[in-house]
Amino acid sequence: PLYQKAHYLKSAPDLSHCPEDEGYEVAFAGRSNAGKSSALNVLTSQKSLARTSKTPGRTQMINFFECDENRRLVDLPGYGYAKVNINVKQAWEAGLSAYVEQRECLRGMILLMDVRLPPTEIDMVMLDWTLDLGLPVHVLLTKSDKLKKGPAQANLLKLKKLLKESYPHATAQLFSSLKRQGVDVAWQKLDEWMEY
Ligand code: GDP
Repeated sequence: PLYQKAHYLKSAPDLSHCPEDEGYEVAFAGRSNAGKSSALNVLTSQKSLARTSKTPGRTQMINFFECDENRRLVDLPGYGYAKVNINVKQAWEAGLSAYVEQRECLRGMILLMDVRLPPTEIDMVMLDWTLDLGLPVHVLLTKSDKLKKGPAQANLLKLKKLLKESYPHATAQLFSSLKRQGVDVAWQKLDEWMEY
């Protein structure tokens, strides 16, 4: 169980402070409150791993969790409650865009979106940006327990249709940290990217 071994490694304000660029990394991104911390905790079977990222001074940092000596999960700063018409590079820290654009060991991005809400403008910018970079994305539609099965499935299909038409680098699934729904599928995606 690789991900259960995850432990806090370090926090970096920008690319130059990141660990050596070797091995494999998967980055977690999403707007604040999308359920990123809860998902990281469930995927690592730890109660408060991601709380580390929420301690004062670290919320705007890139937080690294080491699974083994070659594999890391990376918690990116949550982007704020999306203000429209803001370039992602302004909305996010400048150091963050450099991380995503230049990090050689970055294999994929887990993008967290609340299943009840349509993708925000900034979620769409993320999809455009990663498409341009050729970085694979896997969307976790979080808090799926908050909707009945039918509506949750309908929202997933709607998103999948959009991805198929415009974002072939991205896949999607339902996810609930509360009910542990979708954990195995998400692990498979991490394994695939981490070549584990
Ligand atoms: P973050 O800001 O993206 O890290 O989001 P958090 O993980 O802190 O979650 C934000 C809020 O959503 C918290 O109140 C969580 O308890 C709640 N939440 C997160 N995941 C789930 C879930 O799967 N189901 C339900 N019902 N609530 C969730």
